[in-house]
Amino acid sequence: MGIDFCPCMMHETLQTTRCSRSLVPCRLPLSKARLVAMVVNNASSSGSKILIRDVPGKGKGIITRQYFSKGDIVLAERPLFTQSITRSNATVLAALALCTPYEQESFYRLHNCHGSRYPAELGIFETNVLPCGSNDTHGHIAQQGGIFLFAARFNSSCVPNVNNRWDPDRGQVVFRALRDISPGEELSIGYGKLLATRDERREELKRKFNFKCRCEACALEGQALAFSDERRQVLHELYSAHMQEAAGDDPMQGIGEAMFALKCLREEQLPVYESSFYFSGFHFCAAVSDLSSAAVWAKYAQEASRVAFGIQAAVRWSQLVADPSNYSEAGTLSRMTLAAPDSPLWKDLGF
Ligand SMILES: [Zn+2]
Repeated sequence: MGIDFCPCMMHETLQTTRCSRSLVPCRLPLSKARLVAMVVNNASSSGSKILIRDVPGKGKGIITRQYFSKGDIVLAERPLFTQSITRSNATVLAALALCTPYEQESFYRLHNCHGSRYPAELGIFETNVLPCGSNDTHGHIAQQGGIFLFAARFNSSCVPNVNNRWDPDRGQVVFRALRDISPGEELSIGYGKLLATRDERREELKRKFNFKCRCEACALEGQALAFSDERRQVLHELYSAHMQEAAGDDPMQGIGEAMFALKCLREEQLPVYESSFYFSGFHFCAAVSDLSSAAVWAKYAQEASRVAFGIQAAVRWSQLVADPSNYSEAGTLSRMTLAAPDSPLWKDLGF
């Protein structure tokens, strides 16, 4: 039997008077509640938990008490309220007025990195907003952004081990483990651009969130930093080119770039972009009618999509895994044989 969690995910046990967040009874004031999240993928089996704790040098952060395999959901949370991109302090105040005193108290406890730049409520919102839409950008420029009382405690890393994605069907933002994570590890998401040099990343984070990033990647020095900067710069260029369909019509070059990008992503520990480059490899193989290689690229893309974005994203690949000729651009280039991502050829070439 599992532990009964209050579905509001802010209280460790099911409560006896109504909790406004969960529509079930709840009696604990938030100030006394232990901030314990229900882990959605295993909610009924084991009392799996992630916790908000003080993290040295970072204020609050989220720590896991259990092991997560890559692709596992570590948290799914509904917004306390959402705001459009045209929000103002007045609209934030109006939304707050509809919240309970506990929720308001909790909101005002969140970090405000903007000081006197904005009125307090807007400052807190802009510091903690996450996107509630189909884009993958930070909430600052999303058409719709929301406040998530628990998820607001995720700290930033340029080597994030968790990816956030808005799920319109659930009406929740879903956080998935990008790699295997052990008990005691801090869970982190990327606040800013990851495919950028350390100086560029630090400049953006300072400007938007007023802190100097000292994550694992930003702490590198000397040659290790130079290599990291170079890889991320190359990744930025390749990502921009391949995702804007500007990878060209040279399939040999295109597939080589995809493999090189995947190698750089492994070295930089940034699996969140892997599905994009597996798609690129698939695209070129299907375009030259190398359908057996294309099917393998599609399978890798499917698995990378599952890990970062969930099962629904992975299901969209099923048809192409089964038959790559279903792809709209299959057979659009001259026939040739390329290679699957697991071909020994790549090892010989240093990938
Ligand atoms: Zn960093």
